[in-house]
Amino acid sequence: MKYPEVKNYIGEELQNGSGNTLDVYSPVNGEIISKVFLSTYEAIDKAVKTAREAFTFWSETPIKERVQVFFRYRQLLEKNFDELAHIVHEENGKILDEAKAEVAKSMELTEFACSMPQLIAGEILEVSKGVECRLEHFPLGVVASITPFNFPNMVPNWTIPNALVLGNAMILKPSELVPISANRIADLLKEAGLPKGVFNVVHGSREAVEAICDHPGIDAVSFVGSTKVAKIVYKRAASNLKRVLALGGAKNHLIVLPDANVQMTASNVAASMSGCAGQRCMAASAMVGVGNVDHIIAQLVEEAKKIVPGKNLGAVISKEAKERIENYITEAEKEGAKILLDGRNYVVKGNEKGFYVGPTVIDYVKPEMRIAKEEVFGPVLSIMRSKTLDEAIKIENSSPYGNAAAVFTQSGGLARYVAERASAGMIGVNIGVPVPREPFSFGGWNESKFGVGDITGKSSIELWTKLKKITTKWNPESRTNWMS
Ligand code: NAD
Repeated sequence: MKYPEVKNYIGEELQNGSGNTLDVYSPVNGEIISKVFLSTYEAIDKAVKTAREAFTFWSETPIKERVQVFFRYRQLLEKNFDELAHIVHEENGKILDEAKAEVAKSMELTEFACSMPQLIAGEILEVSKGVECRLEHFPLGVVASITPFNFPNMVPNWTIPNALVLGNAMILKPSELVPISANRIADLLKEAGLPKGVFNVVHGSREAVEAICDHPGIDAVSFVGSTKVAKIVYKRAASNLKRVLALGGAKNHLIVLPDANVQMTASNVAASMSGCAGQRCMAASAMVGVGNVDHIIAQLVEEAKKIVPGKNLGAVISKEAKERIENYITEAEKEGAKILLDGRNYVVKGNEKGFYVGPTVIDYVKPEMRIAKEEVFGPVLSIMRSKTLDEAIKIENSSPYGNAAAVFTQSGGLARYVAERASAGMIGVNIGVPVPREPFSFGGWNESKFGVGDITGKSSIELWTKLKKITTKWNPESRTNWMS
């Protein structure tokens, strides 16, 4: 095996999980590269005890000191950039350039956390004569972050720097499909000087997640993953009276108008549907062409043909994922959709056992087809046609999801019309992947997110802290009024 067995990282010690082990595959070539220990309640309990102990001194460390760790962590991400990107490439299957972009994004997230002391400086006001009220943020305690397979480095870093700078201790439960990056992050945090026990990694799958939701020693849970599991985690953790923010899956619609810039639209849509092999919660998976957009679709297919698996298109996460994606394509074809570019049965020379699906463009998909409604999570674009813009918006609005939506047009007025009416938390205008960069926050609407606020940016301050309001009076009675 290329990587040693992946164990839980609790209080700087590597410990076996309390459950079975699972093979870790590289989607690039289908080979087993490691093994991961899975955890049960027992391992979660150990991690909670360690984190609780660490929380007592970490929360009392002034934020200006806490943040120093993250200045160093940011430098270590840069110093180990290539190695971290290689791990992401191998365990997730995305191409190396995409893996590098992911680590670069982790650096940006850490930079934001380094500005936290400026952002959470409290507020103070004389609320009555001689009486002041001050507002302070306090950490919650031990928080857990449960993450998906598609961004093994970046999504953990959506939560780690912000939650820890704000004084919490954390237990990270990464996806069991991509466990290697998480332990490397733990190594770097240690090297950056993070005290023992403040950050812990517990590996596992369903049983570990259920233990996190149930453990009374965990104060808050953030979850990023599919809507099905987001609902389970949101309900179970909230019923145990924890603060929860659970981000779910997506079905992002791009509305293309006939006046859109042909080249910009074609290359943006192609990149959005195929980037990270379509395994992004921000991926364009449905396009709605309004009126006659045949000229744009023709160019889009030309752009998609330039995307070659194993070269500028990575693998999907597993053999099962490849089969699932190909089944969606076959079903759509049977139901009468027209396949303009077919990525089924793709084999990459030299990596014949890798899990690849080629770029796929399907036209004349009907809104009621399964491929139009469900999250496919592969490099597949379903094109639907509408006669009017309002009809296109109606199709977008009918999705139960609401992560992102985009409009391609040269009309500012029409772009604004769509931006106001699309039922999604992140909107792109002539941008296929409208990820809001720091200090703006990341989060969708509807069944793409359960809970209040967003997971990154300034919004995350409310997620990871609780407010204390202190009202004080020291002045002599003579200087007060009736409100005092
Ligand atoms: P997933 O829901 O299968 O897994 C996410 C986490 O939940 C993992 O840590 C996994 O171990 C755990 N888990 C899986 N099944 C479980 C169960 N039955 N009970 C309890 N825990 C369980 O998601 P995934 O396949 O790893 O990731 C892909 C999904 O994540 C897609 O739906 C994608 O859209 C979504 N995603 C959303 C965002 C967002 O910001 N909204 C970001 C990234 C990924």
